[in-house]
Amino acid sequence: MELVVEDGVFVTMRSGLAQSMLVRDGRIAAIGPAERVRAMAARGAQVARLGGATVVPGLIDAHCHVSDVGYLAAGADCSQPAAAGIPEIQARLRDAAARTPDGSWVTGSGYVEYKLREGRHPTRADLDAAVPDRPAVLYHTSLHACVLNTAALREAGFADGQPDPPDGAFGRDEQGRLDGVVYEGPMFALFEGNLRRDLARMDATRRAGLIEKAGQYFAALGITAACEADMRRDSFTAFAAADERGLLHQRIYGLVVHDQVDWLLASGLRGRHSDRLATEAVKIWADGGMSSRTAAIHGRYPVPPHGSGILFFDRAELTEMVSSFDAQGFQVCIHAQGDRAIDAVLDAYAAVLAAAPGNPLRHRIEHGGAMYPALTARAAELGVLVASQPGFLSTLGDGFAAAFPDHRDQLYPFRSWRRAGITVAGSSDAPVITADPLLGIRDAMLRRTGDGQVLGPGERLRAEDALAMYTTQAARAMHLETEAGSLEPGKHADFTVLSASPLDTDPEEITGIQVLATVVGGTPVYQSVSLLPTG
Ligand SMILES: [Zn+2]
Repeated sequence: MELVVEDGVFVTMRSGLAQSMLVRDGRIAAIGPAERVRAMAARGAQVARLGGATVVPGLIDAHCHVSDVGYLAAGADCSQPAAAGIPEIQARLRDAAARTPDGSWVTGSGYVEYKLREGRHPTRADLDAAVPDRPAVLYHTSLHACVLNTAALREAGFADGQPDPPDGAFGRDEQGRLDGVVYEGPMFALFEGNLRRDLARMDATRRAGLIEKAGQYFAALGITAACEADMRRDSFTAFAAADERGLLHQRIYGLVVHDQVDWLLASGLRGRHSDRLATEAVKIWADGGMSSRTAAIHGRYPVPPHGSGILFFDRAELTEMVSSFDAQGFQVCIHAQGDRAIDAVLDAYAAVLAAAPGNPLRHRIEHGGAMYPALTARAAELGVLVASQPGFLSTLGDGFAAAFPDHRDQLYPFRSWRRAGITVAGSSDAPVITADPLLGIRDAMLRRTGDGQVLGPGERLRAEDALAMYTTQAARAMHLETEAGSLEPGKHADFTVLSASPLDTDPEEITGIQVLATVVGGTPVYQSVSLLPTG
């Protein structure tokens, strides 16, 4: 089956602009001037005319949480500005309670305490007032903190007077009683436990449906491939179920959580399962989050909960883990946000890269928020890649500026990274923020916070470099550059049709560009107008 796609502006990210593209058996057979492409097409090839629309390589999200997006989408949306204050969150949780099956916790997500009218985390009492009789949880948008009501605290086994665990903390009221807020380690265990319990209740069809729902969300944003940054045994079964049913709308590259690698190897599931599902990388968390102020930094935070952040492993442990996964041939991807964590991660990478110059497995740093100049130089010298999130700047940037007053212009230094020669992959970390790559591209160019501060004007990227983050650079960060990331013959026909080119749109207007169609392997997974044949 052949398809000529023409009358468009094709941003190839390889050989400039083209007018027309030939798709054969799900791959790009030719791209270039209209007459030449037509001449190469078989008689009877279908023709799709785009009316001058822009085609970019399928957009790639190099770090997000697809299964979490699908899971949380079933609960209450408690993000700001939609839920402006605690009463609005309470109303949304009440509604969610009415549709949550018995045995599952009532779930809400997406809040940021400093964006709420009250300027604080909701408490167990706030949640009890909305959901008094069964467990309810409200996840912070960072997924590094959450709030539990009294029934959930009881079911989780958290009691007043209990000390903080070494890998996290509990919020407390003036009397020292638990106020319901849970940070880091115990929060991860809760989230994973809830997801696992609810997934276990679902049959394969419903699991596939959860991934399909998430995939529709990503497809509507123009995304054709994504790194699932938190692949576990349970979520893998959901992706596999979707893949078997033809419901996987993106190419999924799974970063398998480090404590699940034994399962992965024993089950024989390592590697490429289809051209839409692969598990060839390992994920480790070195520290906490920027918006929860738990990233491990040198010095102390000037804002609550104060402290220096949380490092989950010491240097020796981290080095040992990296060495072991590297020896098994895994790409290692480590969440590291604070400068103290990045330092430890670079030490661990340096230990294995001494014997493997050029970083052939492409070990990555995920996020890299406080990767200051000396760390950047070291990462570049080692050949370490970074998967980062420009969209954090407009959505969470004011909180970063408050937490890092002395380094606000050095956070997420995209331009410095590129100048140093680092591969910088664009991503969203959804559901932490929206997965919209156009918002990420805009923020990489403007670096403006919600309140209008520009963090690091010298770190703003040109449009070409911002788009490269979500195409060529992201493909490279997931070992996909021979198959995707640019429009050239032989690669998958993965492309996104836009109403205008982000390369010559005023950056202020980029988020207004419409996604007209998202195509994976020559087949549309999303169309807002009927441009392309569907089958
Ligand atoms: Zn993440």
